[in-house]
Amino acid sequence: MQIYKVGGAVRDRLLDRTVSDVDWLVVGATVEQMQALGYRPVGADFPVFLHPKTGEEYALARTERKSGRGYGGFTFHASPEVTLEEDLVRRDLTINAMAEDASGQLHDPYHGKADLDNRLLRHVSPAFAEDPLRVLRVARFAARYAPLGFKVADETLALMRQIAASGELQALTAERSWKEIERALMEAEPQVFIEVLRSCAALEELMPELVHGPDTLAALRQAARHQQPLTVRWACLLRGLEPASVKALNQRFKAPRECQELAVLVGEFAEKADHALTLAPEQLLEILQRFDIYRRPQRFEEFIGACEMAALGHGQPSYPQADYLRGAAAAARAVDVKPLVEQGLTGQGLGEALKGERLKALQAYAQR
Ligand code: ATP
Ligand code: MG
Repeated sequence: MQIYKVGGAVRDRLLDRTVSDVDWLVVGATVEQMQALGYRPVGADFPVFLHPKTGEEYALARTERKSGRGYGGFTFHASPEVTLEEDLVRRDLTINAMAEDASGQLHDPYHGKADLDNRLLRHVSPAFAEDPLRVLRVARFAARYAPLGFKVADETLALMRQIAASGELQALTAERSWKEIERALMEAEPQVFIEVLRSCAALEELMPELVHGPDTLAALRQAARHQQPLTVRWACLLRGLEPASVKALNQRFKAPRECQELAVLVGEFAEKADHALTLAPEQLLEILQRFDIYRRPQRFEEFIGACEMAALGHGQPSYPQADYLRGAAAAARAVDVKPLVEQGLTGQGLGEALKGERLKALQAYAQR
């Protein structure tokens, strides 16, 4: 049997990027041989194993054929006869279809190295169209490697347009799509992900709400520049959409609860935050209470972050509202409940009194 390093590890080493996880390909071996060598099978009917010591993934060479609609509609054929070239041809992009053998020699039947040098994301074969997730993957890689000058090859974009037009993107599960979206949002230039989807008309299929919506890409770009977390990036992307559109996008991809929540709150309160400096103390308090800043300080910080990124994205040099809101939150939090409890207040009475004290604190804060 021959063992090759494949996929992202080969690509990223050639790009001088740090390699996160290494995938291995085993040619000329049977399941039984692998098990005899101590490799642990990952799933029952999937020819993937974990190395007994390193825990890295070793996959038997396989061919794939589409047998129906959706991702379930794939049949695998793994056998010792499947060659390196046959395995690599089923992969999405030429830069992902290179292999390196034990002596460090590159095996590159689909000219991934040339595409890497030319900064091109190009599909390996027409079989690309068999898995619509690849449209999202290409857009994600475009977002990741945009700083290096990578572009989607014209013929690949044309194929992506065909896939979008076929309606097959609708067959993707929320889970598979979200995984790509999430990773794309965390890349260096996440707005490129959306731009690429738009340029092949996949955005209409996946996120039609964004097609004629407000331009939120500048905000998203700022969020990446400022290393904001996923929640903030998602909220930036959805900023300014109708509440119904925010809800639809949240639900279509089953976004994590914190992402959903922040996007909704930004939709509801961002405009107020933009006017923070002129808000009456009562209105300030209402926002702080609604955010439950006492128990959820991080969520409020993320809200401020999303508002700030949008402002910077619109060309404002700074966003003084951010520190103003932080200061207001600090003032409200500084109110001590103890003296009120010592006065014998409890339950609703205590709540009202606490709110009154916080309002006083905000009045003082606003006048400072
Ligand atoms: P990353 O750095 O994001 O992990 P990667 O290239 O290693 O990038 P993986 O999702 O880990 O991506 O997949 C490993 C390899 O398997 C890819 O390089 C590619 O060759 C192949 N691959 C993964 N998913 C697909 C897919 N949906 N269609 C075709 N090939 C795929
Ligand atoms: Mg990988």
